[in-house]
Amino acid sequence: MSAGYVLDAGTRIMCPHSGTLMVRPRVTRVALDGRPPLLADDPNAFAGCGASPPCARVQWSAAALRVSIEGGQPLLSTSVGLIVGGSGGQAVVTGYQTRVTAR
Ligand SMILES: [Zn+2]
Repeated sequence: MSAGYVLDAGTRIMCPHSGTLMVRPRVTRVALDGRPPLLADDPNAFAGCGASPPCARVQWSAAALRVSIEGGQPLLSTSVGLIVGGSGGQAVVTGYQTRVTAR
């Protein structure tokens, strides 16, 4: 498994219908450039999806396996976000920090 950038709370995560994934980070003691990293099991939900029915949330796979933060697996730029609800598909991830990598 190759290394990826650790996703932080400033990451933009979209569905294919212009919906934005709202993630509630639960990490409180670690920050990347002042933003908490995102974990695979942080609660998330889409807002503003234009599909009918709308995309609901994301189920992550391929989170970091060798690093854990506050007991959870950090999400990486190489993680795959499968969309639950709506027409399915994969979330588009952009805008993450590019200094800290993990695998
Ligand atoms: Zn959508």
